[in-house]
Amino acid sequence: MSFNDNVTLDTSQVRSGGGGGAPGGMVVGGGIGGIIMLILAMIFGINPGDITGGGTTTEPGQVQAGGEQGSEAFAACRTGADANENTECRVIGTVNSVQAFWAGELPRYGKEWQPTQTVLYRGTTQSACGTASNQVGPFYCPLDKMVYIDADFFRILEQQFGSSAGPLAQEYVVAHEYGHALQDQLGLLGRAQQDPQGPESGAVRVELMADCLGGVWAHHATTVPDEDTGQPFLEPLTDQDIRDALSAASAVGDDSIQQKTQGRVTPENWTHGSAEARQRWFLQGFKTGDLNQCDTFAVASVN
Ligand SMILES: [Zn+2]
Repeated sequence: MSFNDNVTLDTSQVRSGGGGGAPGGMVVGGGIGGIIMLILAMIFGINPGDITGGGTTTEPGQVQAGGEQGSEAFAACRTGADANENTECRVIGTVNSVQAFWAGELPRYGKEWQPTQTVLYRGTTQSACGTASNQVGPFYCPLDKMVYIDADFFRILEQQFGSSAGPLAQEYVVAHEYGHALQDQLGLLGRAQQDPQGPESGAVRVELMADCLGGVWAHHATTVPDEDTGQPFLEPLTDQDIRDALSAASAVGDDSIQQKTQGRVTPENWTHGSAEARQRWFLQGFKTGDLNQCDTFAVASVN
């Protein structure tokens, strides 16, 4: 359990995609997309070589992204009960919850949330930042302002990276990506590009901030109501839920991934932060529920 059974899911916030990609018409935006891809796409620290070596079409051309609007593709996702049963429905419910939260929260800071769609795909799909696939992991693309999540990613997260399969592990991933969308709206994403790697780099600080923003959402998710029913999206979080989220945060720490993929840890190449730091910043957001406590640029050391 995680979602309140009766909340209604709004599938219009999610598009489908994937199945290998249609021939023609789907052209990636070129070099800048590739660069942003390297820095921002590896939300879960997949080796950049996997992205550049992935056969991505990089001819300049028309940017076209996203797939079908979700109402038909995700017709089976109607309620919180569906979100408790089915991974895709859980992504949709989390997208709904996270957006409802930021839409309500940002006006306190004189800002307005810009609705941000998720492309929930299988196989591969095209984004304005390049080809999305499970080699890349979930990411936020600032060029088309959409979140890309491979429906099979959570299985990879469990089986290859050792995360728990609990619902909040998955929900944390979605909330982290929406943290990037918020950073984009606040003009903070560029700081990752200016200083792309190293344990105290801008990239790592941007990533850890997104973890913290995910924690802020988790803090409030049990109180943010669904517009239709007035019920919060999520049931009260248990210690096990939090352990699940921390397990995902730990699994995708740069040191965890480097140890698995290259057999040693090289902090100078970090782009997302250590397993310990990712958990700590998620908890910082979760415990305080306060956006202002997520300013990873205000501290001397984030790791
Ligand atoms: Zn990220």
